[in-house]
Amino acid sequence: MKITKTSQSRISEVDFSNLPFGNTFSDHMLISEFSNGQWSEPEIKPYGPLSFTPALHTLHYGQAIFEGQKAYYREDGSIGIFRPEANAKRLNHSARRMFMPEFPEELFMEGIRALVDIDREWVPKAPDHSLYLRPFMFGSSEFVAARPSEKYIFCIITSPVGPYYAGNVKVKVEETYTRSASGGVGSTKCAGNYGGAFFATDQARKEGYTQVIWTDHKDHQLVEESGTMNIAFIIDDTFITPPLSDRILGGITRDSILTMLRDRDYLKVEERPVQVEEVINAAKEGLLQEAFGMGTAAVISPISTIGFRGTDYEVGTPADGYAMRIKKELTELRSGAAEDPYGWMVQL
Ligand SMILES: *Cc1c(COP(=O)(O)O)cnc(C)c1O
Repeated sequence: MKITKTSQSRISEVDFSNLPFGNTFSDHMLISEFSNGQWSEPEIKPYGPLSFTPALHTLHYGQAIFEGQKAYYREDGSIGIFRPEANAKRLNHSARRMFMPEFPEELFMEGIRALVDIDREWVPKAPDHSLYLRPFMFGSSEFVAARPSEKYIFCIITSPVGPYYAGNVKVKVEETYTRSASGGVGSTKCAGNYGGAFFATDQARKEGYTQVIWTDHKDHQLVEESGTMNIAFIIDDTFITPPLSDRILGGITRDSILTMLRDRDYLKVEERPVQVEEVINAAKEGLLQEAFGMGTAAVISPISTIGFRGTDYEVGTPADGYAMRIKKELTELRSGAAEDPYGWMVQL
């Protein structure tokens, strides 16, 4: 791997006690280019602009995918990256569906380790802080014919982030707009899935909600995801989450929580289709104990209100509830305060 270090670190300019999510970038980035059927040797170099002509393929046709993951400062002073192989695999799942070249997993792993290592001073030490890692890939040919790009860029940038306080999350059951459809690209982390969701989210904001609960594209009777997170409900001391499909993104947080819960016995676990009606009836009858989103940015984001056809249903967000217990257990595994029986932390 080619490494060019910055001559002037910017770290002294950063206020680590005030880190709005995704606004501050560390000193270095990793980049590799695909052309003539091959990836170039990845290069680590100072973070900075890339330059292209207006014919950049991805601006017109949207072959663009990304990942989101985190590196943590651990109690023993080491740095751990959480489940990076899972992100490497998911990036390639997205790449296949978007007709983009796969990026070799070994190179991904080697590259992400080297990049975090070179910027290890940028991994915040305060509790609940982390270095957010953003691998992404896009079509970088420069032509405007509607066929797949021939060249691609794979890049990783990193950003120190503080705790993610979503506050009280009020979600609206969305029955007009759709995030993804069967046969579509909903299970990939492609850029367009986000672009297509902003309008519906903004509509919900104007009605006083924070996010939407996405439902199925056909008749909006099944719960699918909560904004850009997977969703779970606690009903009758059972953790219930919809099963993965080509409409639902396979979250690594979701998978980690399912794995941990199945090894513990304080909650029953059900991965099965969830009807909107079932959730609303449970809320009406006071049986909906908790509801929350699961994802890398916030880890767990408790839902306090569910809006359905103009009526708001309150959901408990107990400080000593299941959501907070699960979050604590995952946080302890990452920090090293608890065992890591699954070998999820890749240590530097
Ligand atoms: C990224 C993402 C998630 C969460 O995935 P994690 O790997 O847990 O961060 C869930 N839903 C959607 C639509 C996403 O894009």
